Amino acid sequence: MKITYDRFVSIMSAKNKPAAVVKPGDTVVFETRDCFGSQYKHGNEDESDIDKSLINPATGPLYIDGAEPGDCLKVTIVDIKLVGKAQMEKRFFFEITDGLLIFDGKTTIPINPMVGVIGTAPPVGVDVPTHTPGMHGGNMDCTMITAGALVYLPVNVPGALLAMGDLHAVMGDGEVCGYGAEIAGEVTVRVDIIKGFKHPLPLVEKDGVVAAVASADTLDEACRLAVENMAEYLVNIGYSKDKAMLLLSLKGDLGVCQIVNPLKTARMEFMV
Ligand code: CA
Ligand code: CA
Repeated sequence: MKITYDRFVSIMSAKNKPAAVVKPGDTVVFETRDCFGSQYKHGNEDESDIDKSLINPATGPLYIDGAEPGDCLKVTIVDIKLVGKAQMEKRFFFEITDGLLIFDGKTTIPINPMVGVIGTAPPVGVDVPTHTPGMHGGNMDCTMITAGALVYLPVNVPGALLAMGDLHAVMGDGEVCGYGAEIAGEVTVRVDIIKGFKHPLPLVEKDGVVAAVASADTLDEACRLAVENMAEYLVNIGYSKDKAMLLLSLKGDLGVCQIVNPLKTARMEFMV
């Protein structure tokens, strides 16, 4: 099953019509445009030729049969394929060869393909543009969301309505200039439903590291929320609240996902 890039949303909403329907355990390919809607080919395009409605598209949404409000949607990132050149701002294009982004004549950067936007529909009546992160996921720009990662998202509406896009060939934590190496591609995921999931969401897991991802108006508040959510996770797996905080202080790593979106995103990592 593949959802092509022409099926996309600009707002994560319970009102979006499903682009496809699958069952839990199914594997789906999301074909994605870059964050500019793949409209720049050379960087000398006229701004008036750019269709603003194609900016920041998230392919989908995918309806998962049996997903009910209160469930958790587990998304396994099976594979990320990149297509074409990467781009930053309007003008800068970068070739990718043999796993390296060719930055300039003297600098190459090993790629680390990641998904910038991945989320479910927020609760009914709460519509969130695809460039904003939140409790539904969305534009988290979390560098842990690479092939092999598990992304746990809330199911707020029947079917969950999963959508994703905004691939980056590589991005540093913080995304300080506002762009990763923006690129089109294909994300292969497996979707599963977990009933009775007790941990705060969204949650990302990769190579034994679990991270609570949180977004807020300020980075301070996002950090506070990420720590609180990860402490709750540790309490849920059997630690006292006091010990959970001690443990996070000793072997947890607090990190910045991004500081450039309408809400800022932090993550509290813990090797379980
Ligand atoms: Ca982004
Ligand atoms: Ca981006």
